[in-house]
This record gives sequence, C-alpha cells and structure tokens, in this order.
Amino acid sequence: MAFVTRFAPSPTGPLHLGHAYSAILAHDMARAEGGAFLLRMEDTDLERSKSEYESLILEDLAWLGLACDGPVHRQSEHIASYNVRLEPLAARGLLYPCSCTRSDIRSALSAPQEGVVFNVYPGTCRHRSMDSRKPGDALRLNLAAALDALSGADLSFTETGPAHAGHHQIDPPQAIDRIGDVVLSRKGEDIVAYFLAAALDDGDHGVTHIIRGEDLFEFTPVQVILQRLFGLPTPVYHHHRLIRDDQGKRLAKRDDARAISKYRAEGATPADVRRLVGLPEG
Ligand code: GLU
Repeated sequence: MAFVTRFAPSPTGPLHLGHAYSAILAHDMARAEGGAFLLRMEDTDLERSKSEYESLILEDLAWLGLACDGPVHRQSEHIASYNVRLEPLAARGLLYPCSCTRSDIRSALSAPQEGVVFNVYPGTCRHRSMDSRKPGDALRLNLAAALDALSGADLSFTETGPAHAGHHQIDPPQAIDRIGDVVLSRKGEDIVAYFLAAALDDGDHGVTHIIRGEDLFEFTPVQVILQRLFGLPTPVYHHHRLIRDDQGKRLAKRDDARAISKYRAEGATPADVRRLVGLPEG
C-alpha cells in the first residue's frame, strides 16, 4: 500500500516546536516509505486564520527542509463542497439544526466534567427537524442515530503511536458520552473544519497514515464514524507525544517564545530544532 500522510496546520499563529515535531515526523516517515507528504491548511476559521501565518508556515517548513508533495490544499476554498456532502446525511435524519451559543451550552451543562476537555453538547436542539433550520443555525451530527445507522459496521482503527499502540474498537456509549453531537457545519467557526473537513480531506486525498499530536487521540472515534458515514477508508493513526514547555504544559499558539521563526531569527539551524524536539539531527 502506498504511504500518504499530511501535515494539517491551522494558520492561526506561528508554528512552534510542537508543530515542527509533527511535521518532521510525518515528512520523515513519508520519505522513509517512499510515500507522499501533503500540506493542508485548516483555515476554515475565517476570523482567526491569516494569510501572514500561512506564509510564515510555508517559510518555516521550507527552512526545516520539509518539501511537500503537490499543491497546498486550503480548506477555506472548499467550504461549499464540504457542505454539499452533508445533504445525504441530512436526508437520512442524522443531522439537526442547532441555534445554541457557546454560553447556552456551558450553562446547560450541570457541572464541569472531570477529565473532559471538550464540551459535550447537552442535546438541547436534538428534537429539531432539518425543516426548522434558520439562517445562522449550526448543523450537528446526531451521534446516537449515526451509530444506530452504522450498527454492524467496522468501527475500529489501528494506532501505532507510543501511548496507545494497538487496534482500537470504538465503544458507541463511550463515544456518545465523551464526544457527543459534534457540530459539522457553522459559518466562520473552526470546529466545522475540524471534524467534517478533516475526515473528507483525508479520505479524498487518499491519506493512508495520520501523524498528529497525542491531544487529538480522543477525537479519533468521531473521525472513524464520519469515515463510515461517508464511505471512506480509515487510515492508520499515529499520535505522537506532545512537546511541552518548562512547566510541562502543552505548547499553544501563544507560546511565541518557541516559535520556529524565533529560533530561525536567532540563528538556530534546522538540526538544532530537530535536537530540541528530541529527534536525531537527520
Ligand atoms: N489543524 C489541527 C491542528 O493544527 C491538526 C489536525 C490533524 O492533524 O488532524 O492542531
């Protein structure tokens, strides 16, 4: 089987050491396998995504020596086609419109849930039919209905990353509890992008291996469920360790101190960056 992987940054800030680690791993694995390394801009959050950040990401990748194969895919250029793909799911009764705001959702949740970093939607609008959709409503996946429709389907994936290596069977009640009815479409918000556009792009671009941070492991079930709903294959997943700051916290976009451009400006070499993230100098 050919090996196709991708690096999928959101151009909402500069690349930091954590992104560099992800990109280097994906690139090096693709090269070692004689495969392809694709670049995809997850830029559907139109407010936070900036073309300056995209340019900076491209410069950083070139400086790191990570050449990608084929043209850059920008999700913002395909929003309409992602939305069209939702129509059959709507026709199957698997989506519903939702007008809840983030603060409605927060106040409907009885208590912060231990260990859950993701706000599981409490289901306020689940009774609504597609006919009641108003401009500005989001579309959510009715996860329980989707899992019902998929009963008997193979809901599993193979993970090769260090923390969870093995074959994972998705447990529907657990997915409902931990992930719930995700938003698949809402103008201007990045979560649109995330679950829907990522699943469609990975499938459409023939991605066979997904290499990304450990923090996304818990969302893999929703990707697999979407792959089954859209008739797409499930790639092999590899969730890698996260690069942390001196306090042990995961690096975030605001950690400009660890931005690749800063190391670059200070005269570091790509080999220094590889060393800083614990990789052989290559
Ligand atoms: N756009 C996501 C991020 O920057 C990556 C998602 C993925 O690799 O699946 O964290």
